[in-house]
Amino acid sequence: MRQNEHIRLFLPGPVEVRREILEAQTQWMIGHRTGEFADLFARLQDKLKRSFFTESRVYVSGSSGSGLWEGAIRCGVRDERKVLHLTGGAFSERWAQISRANGKQVDCIQVDWGRAHSPDMVADALNKASYDAVCVVHNETSTGVTNPIGAIGEVVRQHPDSFFFVDTVSGYLGTELRVDDWGIDIALTSSQKAFALPPGVAFAAVSDRLLERAATINNRGYYFDFVTLEKSLLKNNTPATPPIALMHAADRQMDSILAEGIEARWARHRAMRDATHQWALERGFGLYAQEGYRSDTVTTVENTLGIDVNALDKFMRSEVGFAMDKGYGVIKGSTFRLPHMGDVTIDMLLEVLGGIDAFMASEN
Ligand SMILES: *Cc1c(COP(=O)(O)O)cnc(C)c1O
Repeated sequence: MRQNEHIRLFLPGPVEVRREILEAQTQWMIGHRTGEFADLFARLQDKLKRSFFTESRVYVSGSSGSGLWEGAIRCGVRDERKVLHLTGGAFSERWAQISRANGKQVDCIQVDWGRAHSPDMVADALNKASYDAVCVVHNETSTGVTNPIGAIGEVVRQHPDSFFFVDTVSGYLGTELRVDDWGIDIALTSSQKAFALPPGVAFAAVSDRLLERAATINNRGYYFDFVTLEKSLLKNNTPATPPIALMHAADRQMDSILAEGIEARWARHRAMRDATHQWALERGFGLYAQEGYRSDTVTTVENTLGIDVNALDKFMRSEVGFAMDKGYGVIKGSTFRLPHMGDVTIDMLLEVLGGIDAFMASEN
């Protein structure tokens, strides 16, 4: 038994955060209407833009990613116009729900859980009706599917009135994402997934044309209003009190990420994905996500061997020191997820996989 020992998070959010990053939060507090804060904001802004591959801007929001779902819809979809959601997993479906909750007219292209969306499906829908925005989840964390964002972006680009909204909460900094090249109008993300920060701060790369449209829309609300955020951003500031400690952590973490190299970070995630697939298939498990669209940051394992995911979590906590995922929503238990995202190393991954092997041996 491991007592009083730190249990490492092997969850698809919040993820394990390195001690150095946790400690970056303990710097003395500064006022946010000071030059010191403006310096921190500007430094972080520059690094965020590089990491999103955008020349435009990245808003920093004192919220989780869900807040920016709402901001994107309220600032980007006009009255009397419709929004198209590509749904097929817990998160894409929730984003559509948020659009409805904000009074928008929503159409969905629903695929079975575990399937990806194709550019053809989007082309069909855009030829039949006109939409202010196409909303897609880059990496559907519940099913482990990565959508072909670049190819879908090509289609959306042919309809100049339709803007391209991407939730990359569990994709950003773990798998390829190129905001400007792919014609993305908003790429929103949270801190607690592949960024490997504590939860509580979210980020959104926003295009010029989305900002221009926002200025023409009524009832954008206040907290997630991009027009308001932009006014402050131009002064290296935020409208409301920002999560200063988390921004220090983000600034420190960005240095590590840029030192690793964004593309090298993607490659590390891909290598961990491949090792995870190999392990799962060799044991006789299935892979839940459609072949060709399997995520680099999280593998959803089809629990074909019927292992008890609660017993696995208990074993892993006490014998190996990891907290494990048990599957999400309606596929809980019949699947479980192995998140290889953030600052997870191949060694840590192998320790987890070895632990699961030990659990399975102990059950027999
Ligand atoms: C975790 C997650 C969210 C929700 O983000 P919060 O930061 O918890 O609001 C949204 N989309 C995806 C794909 C996620 O993985």
